[in-house]
Amino acid sequence: MSNANDSTQITDEVDVALVGAGVMSATLGALLRELEPSWSQIIFERLDGPAEESSSPWNNAGTGHSALCELNYTPDQNGTVNITKALNINEKFQVSRQFWSHQLNNGVLDDPREFINPVDHVSFGQGADQVDYIKRRYEALSASHLFPEMEYSDDKDVFSEKLPLMAEGRDFESNPVAISWTPVGTDVNFGAQTRQFITAAKAAGTEVRYGHEVLSIREDGAKWKITAKNVHTGDKQVVRANFVFVGAGGYALDLLRGAGVPEVKGYAGFPVSGMWLRCTNPELVEKHSAKVYGKASVGAPPMSVPHLDTRVIDGEKGLMFGPYGGWTPKFLKEGSFLDLFKSIRPDNLTSYLGVGVQELGLVKYLVQEILKDFDDKVETLREYIPEADGKDWETVVAGQRVQVIKPVGFPRFGSLEFGTTLISNPTGTIAGLLGASPGASIAPAAMLEVLERCFGDRMIEWAPKIEEMFPSYGIDLAEDEKLYDEMWEYTQKTLKLDR
Ligand SMILES: Cc1cc2nc3c(=O)[nH]c(=O)nc-3n(C[C@H](O)[C@H](O)[C@H](O)COP(=O)(O)OP(=O)(O)OC[C@H]3O[C@@H](n4cnc5c(N)ncnc54)[C@H](O)[C@@H]3O)c2cc1C
Repeated sequence: MSNANDSTQITDEVDVALVGAGVMSATLGALLRELEPSWSQIIFERLDGPAEESSSPWNNAGTGHSALCELNYTPDQNGTVNITKALNINEKFQVSRQFWSHQLNNGVLDDPREFINPVDHVSFGQGADQVDYIKRRYEALSASHLFPEMEYSDDKDVFSEKLPLMAEGRDFESNPVAISWTPVGTDVNFGAQTRQFITAAKAAGTEVRYGHEVLSIREDGAKWKITAKNVHTGDKQVVRANFVFVGAGGYALDLLRGAGVPEVKGYAGFPVSGMWLRCTNPELVEKHSAKVYGKASVGAPPMSVPHLDTRVIDGEKGLMFGPYGGWTPKFLKEGSFLDLFKSIRPDNLTSYLGVGVQELGLVKYLVQEILKDFDDKVETLREYIPEADGKDWETVVAGQRVQVIKPVGFPRFGSLEFGTTLISNPTGTIAGLLGASPGASIAPAAMLEVLERCFGDRMIEWAPKIEEMFPSYGIDLAEDEKLYDEMWEYTQKTLKLDR
């Protein structure tokens, strides 16, 4: 450690700096710690603890996304259900299961029950068209071993037995329903998982500076100079790092732009907020045990598909319904109302304008959602629970998403993306993640991509360790049923998911 020119600044030298203490930084930190135990690591977090933004359990839905129930991964294209996206997300979730199992066996992660629990995943359709679609989707997916133990029914007695809370008071005669389900779904508490990762990181020597906001990241020779402010005292500090990962959620875009990363030029961010209805009434909670995903309403972005979820948080069960769309110009839940305006620059102005013109459907959807009061929200809930009573439910503000607006065409009109985009510079010394979907469920696969992009020259040397962490690395599990079965058995047992 050496004193810099400014007496309030101290300069530290580290190998790896992680900006943000969410699930992405925590996952990458664990990966690098195992691959290069001698590399020093530091984490900066502007809030006073880990996982307080999107990775916090009530800020996201905690669905272990593997396309078992989410209808947006299986679009109906001219009468054929396309399962390409579903296979892809499912494979990525298998990568997560392997990584988490390895970290449990290694003693990095602690108790799987704190962060992952088995919950049935159910797809739900109402009306003749959706019933037909749910059936065809079930037939397409159940043909693949990646979607085990799937069942389908359009029988009201089966529905009532599986989903009693959703059956009470339902008019089955005039509105036919269908469900497909599998018992192998999961609910994941990404906040608890992040905390476990960071506890282990600290024990292994990683310095974690909570209450420290990174103000800027600048190139400094072959390194990066990170200036951070202690948000409580105002003291500024400078740290020089060989490699920086910007896991700052909604703030990643502006930090990467400020760092002069050329690949992020023209990108912009569109904030979408959300709300849930939450129920902790034990009588109702006991009557519903599943994550039930339906069809999105017209104009709704894919991540706004409504769902009624059993959540398991800190050992307690609860129900969550939503999300209801909302809007604020903040880029983080604990962000500033100026975030959006400060993010508009000459190079991304046309991206914003392009999206404003092309996405009128989304704008209309958001306006409709914002106008919904509590009673309107309960009315929407009644599509799932016909006899829902508002007194059993409360509203909870969800985490903030910043959808990526990608510059396309000339002169860089934007295209709104609903997935995640990994940005890195050509030398692989800085990387960051934009966007929020499918999110935390595929953090290990996303962080493996960071390694491939930024440390490509080390991948051969790291191969034995990577294979230990991810036994199916480089193998298509959809094509290799035997390996899939082995991995399934290993991860079910290690994650204690057998019921
Ligand atoms: C409504 C909603 C529902 C979702 N549902 C699911 C789901 O069911 N399943 C799923 O897998 N995923 C889901 N996701 C996505 C998932 O929550 C995110 O992908 C994931 O949590 C992102 O993790 P992260 O570490 O990138 O970001 P975050 O958890 O947001 O962490 C970023 C951290 O960086 C910190 N930070 C920001 N700027 C700075 C700075 N300048 N200096 C220091 N620290 C900084 C922030 O304070 C924050 O703690 C959902 C997200 C939302 C919003």
